[in-house]
Amino acid sequence: MIPIKEAKSIVEKHLFKVEKEQVLLKNAGDRILAQDVVASFPSPRFDNSAMDGFAVRSVDTIGASNDSPVTLNMVGVSSAGTPSNVSIKEGECIQCMTGAKIPDGADAIIMVEDSSGFSDAETVQIMLETFPGKHIRNRGEEIKEGEILIQKGTPITPSEIGTCATFGYGNLSVFKKPKIAIFGTGDELVEPGTPLGEGQIYNSNLYVFSELANCAGAEITMRNVIKDNKDSLRLFLSEALETCDIVISSGGVSMGKYDYVRDVFMELGVEEHFWKVAQKPGKPLFFGTGKNTLIFGLPGNPVSSYIGFMDWVWPVIHTLTGQPEKESITAILKKPFPREKVKYRFLFGKAWMENGQLVCEPSPKVGSHMLTSSLQTNCILGTAQGDGPLLPGENITVHILPWKSIK
Ligand code: AMP
Ligand code: MG
Repeated sequence: MIPIKEAKSIVEKHLFKVEKEQVLLKNAGDRILAQDVVASFPSPRFDNSAMDGFAVRSVDTIGASNDSPVTLNMVGVSSAGTPSNVSIKEGECIQCMTGAKIPDGADAIIMVEDSSGFSDAETVQIMLETFPGKHIRNRGEEIKEGEILIQKGTPITPSEIGTCATFGYGNLSVFKKPKIAIFGTGDELVEPGTPLGEGQIYNSNLYVFSELANCAGAEITMRNVIKDNKDSLRLFLSEALETCDIVISSGGVSMGKYDYVRDVFMELGVEEHFWKVAQKPGKPLFFGTGKNTLIFGLPGNPVSSYIGFMDWVWPVIHTLTGQPEKESITAILKKPFPREKVKYRFLFGKAWMENGQLVCEPSPKVGSHMLTSSLQTNCILGTAQGDGPLLPGENITVHILPWKSIK
């Protein structure tokens, strides 16, 4: 049994280089940027109108009001996409639509509502005095040319997609999704939706793994529940080791008579780096490497599997896809937390703000078979070994579940 810290540094040493690929912008949602996105031009790219109206010289509108309108000569139209190349002179104006280029000579826009309106007449009445810059969106006022808009490592959400489109990126360099194989082992496992026989239970772990792997940014290419026999394991694993970047098992790596997963890994040439880590739940954790594959064998108890994935696999997927890891934070315990004498202890928990401080409490269900301990929680709490429980008022480490928030 090795300490978590040592085990983590062993995993870090075996992480491989992250690969990149080009994808069309429309397919880039939910991917992770592998390039900086830079503004290739300022935004707005040219001075343009914020309103439908008239481009004027503001000096020509001095004194204009409803009672005493100013009459200007209408000398052209500038619409979005079709700028006018007429330059306006004293006493002139140009019809200018939202997004249209401001014609030379104009320094303000009068809204159509403050005029006698658009018409084919040669003149227009202006009912409002204006000033330079009014209703004009200036070149570069939002973004300067060459500015870094989005940094490498950023998850691509609608905001990033929209910004990339705004600046003309037709495709983007993103990190490749690691291919992941997930499998469960156990003669007792039955798929949800089918009847249970005597002594059987439903396979829940692969459903949790599947959600977590997708959410972390991996692509599940193999998934299966395998009976506790070496032949079936060999069949699945030999293909997984050839085709996947990461292989994750749930169950079959403990001390049980039918826990064959580790044996089969070894038979297939996997190099074992550690098996058993000083943590609870999830002690019989296996980590090994194949030719191009990272292999994690997580114990089958549902909480061990879930927390094991979050603590070991999630950060690996994040690192491989260039996503920065969130720092863990500390909170003040409101209820005692059961510390272990020689192992790091994890439990699902709830963290919330109270009088400006982050406080938390562990789930009252502490068994590693109790998956419902994860319901109504928003974090995993963890503490290093020590004598006796951590007491209310003491600090504890909090890992907020990435899809949850602090209330
Ligand atoms: P194992 O690590 O194979 O000894 O399994 C430990 C416990 O986890 C046993 O009670 C198993 O029945 C249970 N278990 C194993 N795999 C799964 C799974 N995929 N879904 C739910 N429970 C499981
Ligand atoms: Mg088993």
